[in-house]
Amino acid sequence: MSKFRSGVLYGQELLDVYNDAKEVGYALPGVNAVGTSTVNAIMETAARVQSPVIVQLSFGGGQFYAGKSLANDKLQASALGCLSAAHHVDMVAESYGVPVIMHTDHCSLKNIAWVDQLIEYQERYYEKHGRPLFSSHMLDLSEESLEQNVEICEKYLKRLDAIDIGLEIELGITGGEEDGVDNSEVDSSKLYTHPSEVFYAYERLSKISPNFTVAAAFGNVHGVYKPGNVKLSVEILKNSQNFVADEIGASGSKPVSFVFHGGSGSSQEDIRKSIDYGVIKMNLDTDMQWAFNAGVRDYYKDYAGYLQTQIGNPDGDDVPNKKYYDPRKVLRQAEEYFVTRLEESFADLNCVKRNC
Ligand SMILES: [Zn+2]
Repeated sequence: MSKFRSGVLYGQELLDVYNDAKEVGYALPGVNAVGTSTVNAIMETAARVQSPVIVQLSFGGGQFYAGKSLANDKLQASALGCLSAAHHVDMVAESYGVPVIMHTDHCSLKNIAWVDQLIEYQERYYEKHGRPLFSSHMLDLSEESLEQNVEICEKYLKRLDAIDIGLEIELGITGGEEDGVDNSEVDSSKLYTHPSEVFYAYERLSKISPNFTVAAAFGNVHGVYKPGNVKLSVEILKNSQNFVADEIGASGSKPVSFVFHGGSGSSQEDIRKSIDYGVIKMNLDTDMQWAFNAGVRDYYKDYAGYLQTQIGNPDGDDVPNKKYYDPRKVLRQAEEYFVTRLEESFADLNCVKRNC
């Protein structure tokens, strides 16, 4: 008997997963995808470990999904690709037997037209089908003032909640560089969120809907850096959680659902602690890119003698190489490496057999 429904989850179903994660003590991997190969590999892994999973696309990932040759001056290709991915997951997730939280990654004010198009499409879709295509969207307005950030998020949460979609917000800045956004030179005080800021956002947003999550900065950085270069302070999550719990008169509870961005290269100890403090999602991008690429790299190394000419290889001068240069071969090996690496992350996040 499975705990959660297979397919793309929405509305209350999201809260059910997050509450279960907090109660049991695990976090879901939020894995970035850029095409069917990665989307399918994510679902393949979730099926293997029998747990729910989060599939997410950035605006660059969405653009790639639709095809790099399409015009994207109004972020229309970014929107189109994300919708295409969501329709794809909607079609196949049930066959994989996995509950999927379909999500979009960082969206700054500059790129808001991207998410606007996704919402407009889903408002029409919801009218017809009674459900959205995405489970949640993210707005990263950490470049704005706290007041402005929360005010805009309030408006979006209202609109999203009406069609059963959740919202992920960002407080403080995740350092490093991702998807063309470079925060590596940012003022270091912005890299650590204050508990009072978390409460400010929590209080305002929970008046609208409980369906939101918070990516709070605690020294986390996108990408992988030399050990010692990143000073994580997961205690910020604990202090924030306690601060909010005390303020709302629910001491000892974990009212906030936190998201861990920039977890690549973090110690197992920090990951487990952050889960204790209410992290229910950890984003995975850099390490998964590395794994996928390693699959490609090793394929070309292992079959070098079979990939130089269409005919002729170490087995004979007239032997055809078609079965080696068929793109499915190299892509499948990349997918396999991706799955193996992602299985490790599910284990690190204590997220194995969570749908049983
Ligand atoms: Zn991020």
